[in-house]
Amino acid sequence: MRVLLANDDGIEAAGITALRQVLEDLDWEVYVSAPDRERSAVGHGITVHRPLRVRKYVWGEKSRGWSVDGTPADCVKLALENFLPQPPDLVISGINLGPNLGTDVLYSGTVSAAFEGLINGFTAIAVSLAVYGEADYRPAAAFLRDFLPQALRMTLPPCTMLNINVPPGVPRGIRIARLGRRRYVNVFHRRTDPRGRAYYWMAGEVEDTDNGPGTDLAAVKDGFVSVSPLHCDLTDYNLLDALRDLENS
Ligand code: MN
Repeated sequence: MRVLLANDDGIEAAGITALRQVLEDLDWEVYVSAPDRERSAVGHGITVHRPLRVRKYVWGEKSRGWSVDGTPADCVKLALENFLPQPPDLVISGINLGPNLGTDVLYSGTVSAAFEGLINGFTAIAVSLAVYGEADYRPAAAFLRDFLPQALRMTLPPCTMLNINVPPGVPRGIRIARLGRRRYVNVFHRRTDPRGRAYYWMAGEVEDTDNGPGTDLAAVKDGFVSVSPLHCDLTDYNLLDALRDLENS
């Protein structure tokens, strides 16, 4: 197995190091391409108005890597087109520090890195640890060591990836889950700078607007690992026929 590993917390983050060790323990050939600093919540942005600078990393026999001064999607694009000697069998992103549940996937650099692999036709998985601040990645790593070989025995349909969230502590099991919905409220702190001008700092509290049965939000809250299949086609097929009338109006 040849694996491309990315993240959005930066190449030196504890979470990507934990996942790299899992992949090495599985005796897989690991290529890391990750941002040179934290780039969380940059979504699927790519860098087209300036060049990208790269630094090479080597960790022992099984892993090599490149840090990139760009976005998570840049890292995966560059690696697929320039760094890897052969196409990978898997593109995996994480382990992110913090959840990527429900609507979070639209903002997430972690999920976008996997999504970039998906767009290019590769099997892709994103993994996040639903913890803020101090994180212990060991239970998530132990789970992935068992889960990844199993999951990869299944063939995912074209343009489908897995988004995985691991709860804090030792998981009670796995739940296959649809995305819930959440939004952030009271987002902006308005303050005044030393020159008397207003500035705004985005923060906010999360409000779950759908954490009902079957959602990833419910699974993680109940102490289970959530595994959600995501599709790259955002078309609303239910509305296609209903909107067709507009063609003739
Ligand atoms: Mn992150």
